[in-house]
Amino acid sequence: MAESHAHVACPACLKANRIPVARLGDGPKCGGCGTPLLDGKPVMLDEQSFDAFVGRTDLPVVVDFWAPWCGPCRGFAPVYEKASETHGDVVFAKVNTDEQQELAGAFGIRSIPTLMVFREKVILFQQAGALPGNALEQVITQAKSLDMAKVHQEIAAQQSSAPTGDDAPQS
Ligand code: ZN
Repeated sequence: MAESHAHVACPACLKANRIPVARLGDGPKCGGCGTPLLDGKPVMLDEQSFDAFVGRTDLPVVVDFWAPWCGPCRGFAPVYEKASETHGDVVFAKVNTDEQQELAGAFGIRSIPTLMVFREKVILFQQAGALPGNALEQVITQAKSLDMAKVHQEIAAQQSSAPTGDDAPQS
C-alpha cells in the first residue's frame, strides 16, 4: 500500500499539511489558517497559487480549465462537482482560462474544457473536451492506482538516456 501520510496544500494559505491517509475523510483543516482541506468542493487556482498548490500536494490533483462563456464547460461542471464530492482522496481544482490566460498558455490549453491530472509534479493526463462521468471516473481511478515510484523511475530513465550535449543547430 501507499505511504501512510499525504501532503495536502491549503487552498487559502498554500501551506503543505501532512495528513494521515486514513484520516483524509475526517474533515481535515489547515494547521496554519484553519481552512477546511478536501471539503469536496473544487479549489479555484490562479497564477499565484497554481505551482505551490499542485507542487505541495501528494494526492492526485485534477484540474479543469474552463471559462464562464463556454457551454460544454458549464455542462461538465456538475459532473466534475459530483466527482469532487465522491473522491475524498483526490483534489479537484479549476482554472478560469479567461482570467488566467498565462497559466492556460503555459500548459498549451487550446480548447476548453481541458482536463489535466497532476500527481507529485508529474502530468499524468491531459485531454480536451468534456468527459462523460464514467470516463472521468476511469481517469481518477487510474491516477489513484498508479505506482508513483515507478513513474518517477521511468522519467529519470528517460532523462538520463536523453542526449546531454548542445543540440542547437549550428548556422
Ligand atoms: Zn491554510
